Amino acid sequence: MNPLKGGHKKLPSETAPVWIPDEAASRCMRCDAEFSLLVRKHHCRNCGAVVCKSCSGGTAIVPGVDKQKEVRVCNVCKKIIQQIRNKN
Ligand SMILES: [Zn+2]
Ligand SMILES: [Zn+2]
Repeated sequence: MNPLKGGHKKLPSETAPVWIPDEAASRCMRCDAEFSLLVRKHHCRNCGAVVCKSCSGGTAIVPGVDKQKEVRVCNVCKKIIQQIRNKN
């Protein structure tokens, strides 16, 4: 199994992610929506992906960014972070 394949699973990072530059993404990296004046770009603070508003609707604690304040994350990261928190 190639760990790079099969989705965007990423644990909450201890370090701030490398942001994908805005110019590098013309489409949402989650739902493939094309960015425009109406579909604005948002960065997930956990994985650095460029996503649209509906794919970055959540916030979560990302230790590498801020241990107290919730920051914007994409839906995929939000789910993973929640699952980890529920286990503890
Ligand atoms: Zn999207
Ligand atoms: Zn993410």
